[in-house]
Amino acid sequence: MLYIDGEWREAASGKRFESINPATGDVIDSVADADTEDVRAAIDAADAASESFAALTAYQRAAFLGEAHQLMLERREDLAKLMTEEQGKPLRMSRTEVTYAADFLLWFAEEAKRVYGSTIPSNRADQRFLVMHQPVGVVAAVTPWNYPISMITRKIGPALAAGCTSVLKPARYTPLCAREVYRIFDDAGIPPGVVNLVSSSRARPVGDEFLSNPKVQKLTFTGSTEIGKQLAADAAKQVKRVSMELGGHAPFIVFPDADPVHAAKGVAALKFLNMGQACISPNRIFVHRSIADTFIATVTERVGALKAGSGMVDGNTVGPLIDEDAYLHMESQVKDAVAKGATVAQGGERLTGEGFDGGYFYAATVLTGVTPEMTIYREETFGPIAPIIVFDDDDDIVTMANDTEYGLAAYIYTNDIKTAWNTVEKLNFGIIGVNDINPTAAAAPFGGVKESGLGREGGAEGIGEYLETKLVGFAV
Ligand code: NAP
Repeated sequence: MLYIDGEWREAASGKRFESINPATGDVIDSVADADTEDVRAAIDAADAASESFAALTAYQRAAFLGEAHQLMLERREDLAKLMTEEQGKPLRMSRTEVTYAADFLLWFAEEAKRVYGSTIPSNRADQRFLVMHQPVGVVAAVTPWNYPISMITRKIGPALAAGCTSVLKPARYTPLCAREVYRIFDDAGIPPGVVNLVSSSRARPVGDEFLSNPKVQKLTFTGSTEIGKQLAADAAKQVKRVSMELGGHAPFIVFPDADPVHAAKGVAALKFLNMGQACISPNRIFVHRSIADTFIATVTERVGALKAGSGMVDGNTVGPLIDEDAYLHMESQVKDAVAKGATVAQGGERLTGEGFDGGYFYAATVLTGVTPEMTIYREETFGPIAPIIVFDDDDDIVTMANDTEYGLAAYIYTNDIKTAWNTVEKLNFGIIGVNDINPTAAAAPFGGVKESGLGREGGAEGIGEYLETKLVGFAV
């Protein structure tokens, strides 16, 4: 069903599309398949609700978010099960994601009350300057399937807090997760037209309507750099505001003074979270030659101990990939690397047999001897492959790490405070973990530089993406 103007509706065309369990290939359910006409109706509803919603007090908007936060936590178990069924990640990780998603609702309920303005001294005695912030208006949002609930609240939370109305198109692979989030918004009593949901199997016409409709003031997008660039170019035609959370190619650097076992345990845990389908997943693992043997042996052993299978089964730590294309992408990156001299230290193949045949399972893989000539060294993997590169010279490593068009996350392992500080300053990435594999939280600004995106989500910065600045000159 679509959620438009506070009502659950079928698409005007009556069309529906199916949501598939990637672990089994089974159909879970079907949902309404929006077309341009439905998207236009949702934008009209958001536009009509815009003025009255912006006129509410920050305390009233915060109350809606607070209620939604509470409901999300109450429904955590059901949401987590649905997420595992629809997206594949192990249930324990789905639970963590639901909590993370709810955190954004609470954080932005609090931030709604902190949209401060300022006054500026004038050089004219008879003038006063006032700076105020107002909601940007109607926001169009597009989200990916890899974090199908938290990517929604990370956008719609601050949009609501700022006083914006919105229309969301979730990924075609995870419309059911989106539907449950909108049930929460509905149950939280958010007024009709303020939040609208248009699931669709055809992204292009939805995106075209978002960007050609003059009622939409802003696009917030999370997804691949390729699609993000196209959408940003189209948004420029009406100079619409954009926020872009795009792809990544994170370096993970282990300096010679680091504990190689500790670093290896860190990367083995981090790389295979969500089957490597994360924008901040390490994509080039650099280890200094002096500690490389211990590091590689520990990574290989830890990865070998991961257990693949349905995310619904307790103890399974690596679920399925999202589709056949994802599997083919793994296969081609591994083939290319091996042809150019890499060694498969672990995995490197499709998993078949009972429990695997209906889905898209690829073994957790470790590649050693990776070099800059290999595709995996440059191209985002977005899957369960850990490519290891041995380096010799500390002075070159930051240049090597920065040698990518991406700039989302980077990780360093060192016990030397000078190395840590100097490296952090020189790395061209928006998020850096120092001996830390999880540098994310609702309270922290998330986002990248270079081709990894524009703007930040979460943190104090997150709400600013949904606010315009207005300057008032007052003659007194
Ligand atoms: P994707 O193919 O770019 O899709 C992302 C979203 O955009 C989906 O909802 C997709 O719809 C939609 N879309 C595709 N073409 C569109 C168009 N012409 N107009 C409007 N919407 C369009 O990316 P993905 O494969 O879902 O996600 C993986 C990528 O997301 C990776 O590159 C990853 O690094 C990135 N990501 C970044 C962050 C971050 O915060 N920086 C977080 C998570 C993921 P359909 O599903 O219908 O195709």
